[in-house]
Amino acid sequence: MVIESDVVIIGAGPAGAVAAAELRREGFRPLVVEKLRFPRFVIGESLLPHTMDLLQAVDLLDAVEQRGYLRKHGALFRRGDEICEFDFANQLQGGWDYTFQVPRADFDKVLADTVAARGVEILYGHGVSTVRFAADHAEVGLDLPDGGRRNVTTRFVLDCSGYGRVLPRLLDLEAPSTLPVRESLFTHVTGDLRPAGREEGKIWICVHPRDAWTWIIPFSNGITSIGVVARPDFYRQFAADPEAQLREIVASDSNIAGRLRNVQMVFPPRRIAGYSCGIKRLFGPRFALAGNATEFLDPVFSSGVTLAMASALRAAQVLGRELRGEQVDWQTDYADYLERGVATFRAYIDAWYDQRLPAILFAAPRSPGVMRQICSVLAGYAWDTDNPYVTRAQRALQALAAVVGSARPGAPAAPPGGVTAARLLATKSS
Ligand SMILES: Cc1cc2nc3c(=O)[nH]c(=O)nc-3n(C[C@H](O)[C@H](O)[C@H](O)COP(=O)(O)OP(=O)(O)OC[C@H]3O[C@@H](n4cnc5c(N)ncnc54)[C@H](O)[C@@H]3O)c2cc1C
Repeated sequence: MVIESDVVIIGAGPAGAVAAAELRREGFRPLVVEKLRFPRFVIGESLLPHTMDLLQAVDLLDAVEQRGYLRKHGALFRRGDEICEFDFANQLQGGWDYTFQVPRADFDKVLADTVAARGVEILYGHGVSTVRFAADHAEVGLDLPDGGRRNVTTRFVLDCSGYGRVLPRLLDLEAPSTLPVRESLFTHVTGDLRPAGREEGKIWICVHPRDAWTWIIPFSNGITSIGVVARPDFYRQFAADPEAQLREIVASDSNIAGRLRNVQMVFPPRRIAGYSCGIKRLFGPRFALAGNATEFLDPVFSSGVTLAMASALRAAQVLGRELRGEQVDWQTDYADYLERGVATFRAYIDAWYDQRLPAILFAAPRSPGVMRQICSVLAGYAWDTDNPYVTRAQRALQALAAVVGSARPGAPAAPPGGVTAARLLATKSS
């Protein structure tokens, strides 16, 4: 039997491209199999600064920088007339102070083309439909563009198929999400009345008055991505037609109505629902999962591509050692690492939806030290063991929300000996 490739990577999105780049850098022969033709649309356009480290680690950053994408210097949270602004310049030391807003059709193609130029074979228009594992190899069944079929033998399968979730489906690895079903309605627009200068590229995350939130993500080509996230029944109070529905939702939120009052939609709004998902296992004999093929939480903090790249890079590093014959421990070296980052973001996502985080973000006064620590998390540094808002994210947010709550006018005074709201909110760190 002839082993045709060291590893078959399913999917050429950010996870697949980063994994392929790392394995190629280490001298292996990955084969990337991609169901679609690029460029193709995918949602997920706002990066976090930590992606810059990850792109740099696999020599893909220069290719991205050359595209002239709009620089994203931070995030603006808005609720009614309250604003909480994060600038990535004001985070814990060492992190990148900008990243990019990227039209994904272009961004994903740039990554894939750059990797291909380094000698990685990418089979576009080929869908993986079967996988069979044997003791010393795996056989991956491909659906060919002409309707035929072909098997590829490989030493390892790395599933980076994103929402395709190829191995989770084939190997029964899917688990229900811990998050309720949410639905997103989104499109691209022209005519967005953007702020100028450094503010132009910041993402806006706006709390809609009726239990939803919206994003505004501007691109350098004059197009802006806008979208809504809510429980499915939220949409029933608006027009049924998707374009009219999105226009009504925009008009009913004073945070975005002014900025978006003249927009033209580039394509009819699309809908995606039930995207959050869980996973039973991240690896097994001769396979591992990375990117969205693992667990996807929620888009609110734009963590998807960061987690996709971080998991893909780590999986490729561990796999490289295994292919060289080293003993590796996928649980500690890979799964535990990924879970730490996911757990950090999960703490913030839970706190966002149960209103603890909005209470913190829109509190006044806000401690600059605490906000710097939170800013680092929002910049994607979700593994930083020096940041208590990472290592003790759940407890830190809980404590801070309680203090903020007690600082509201009319709230009971702090117990004797307890920390006062004013003290905690004014401390430089916690
Ligand atoms: C509403 C919404 C908004 C979001 N906003 C953001 C955001 O602002 N920022 C952010 O970072 N993330 C965001 N995300 C998350 C983001 O979309 C994903 O995390 C990211 O695309 C994951 O990258 P990936 O490489 O794992 O998968 P993908 O980008 O989905 O790539 C997977 C590839 O695998 C291919 N594939 C699928 N099945 C097969 C098969 N059978 N055979 C071969 N190939 C296959 C697909 O065609 C695809 O090209 C958002 C998600 C949602 C739902």
